[in-house]
Amino acid sequence: SPYRKPLIGTSWKMNKTNQEALAYLQRLQERLKDVSTSVFILPPFSALSETRRFLQESDSPLLFGSQNVHWDDAGAFTGEVSAPMLKEIGCQFVEINHQERRRWFSETNETANWKIHAVLRNNMSPIICLGEEKRETWDLTEAFLRYQLLQLLAGLEPAAAANIILAYEPLWAIGATEAASPAHVAQVHVLLRRLLTEKYGTTVAQAIPLLYGGSVNRQNAAGLSLLPEVDGLFVGRAALEPDGLADLVELA
Ligand code: PEP
Repeated sequence: SPYRKPLIGTSWKMNKTNQEALAYLQRLQERLKDVSTSVFILPPFSALSETRRFLQESDSPLLFGSQNVHWDDAGAFTGEVSAPMLKEIGCQFVEINHQERRRWFSETNETANWKIHAVLRNNMSPIICLGEEKRETWDLTEAFLRYQLLQLLAGLEPAAAANIILAYEPLWAIGATEAASPAHVAQVHVLLRRLLTEKYGTTVAQAIPLLYGGSVNRQNAAGLSLLPEVDGLFVGRAALEPDGLADLVELA
């Protein structure tokens, strides 16, 4: 993986005007001057150009990407944005399959799979969210994750798979009061690494960062990121302010 561990990032979801984005980035840049981990932010589409401009002008090591994409490279899809458009703006990442996209915009494993192919075809890295919807027995959790991973990665060759990032985000831990326990996160990450190894071999499987997301905060970030199975953290609410993200980066 080309990233320095731990890889820590946030999606702003549907938050921040361009003006707010700029204020966030300025403060984050001040706070993270001497940080040696990789940090990424996923602004809304409307703030991507401004984000790129700021990061370029300030010679910042921060990485950025978008929260969604269409699966075709161009065409009659009113209101959508394509991977070549995002690549041109300088996105390195595109988030795919977040639970909110599934819940509110009817996304499925199949449409997520098409989007993953579009992102890779255009030389960006998909940050692929996956995770079970309810707290279940381990057998059911394992079966769910095995099936979802298979569907999401359908048709993906090893050379392409080496460029993906997985974010384990169980629905029951997103926007919740508590994150998943370190023991559960470790168990799932071991499973994901094993499934990736079975499918793509050790070299490719080891290259894929496995992030954890779901109610990461100042109290639990250090414990989660210290797990040897966890390559990084994907954060929502706790990073909506720049000092929140900077604190987590320092803690992790
Ligand atoms: C998320 O929605 O991906 C997420 C991790 O949110 P939060 O950290 O707010 O639970």
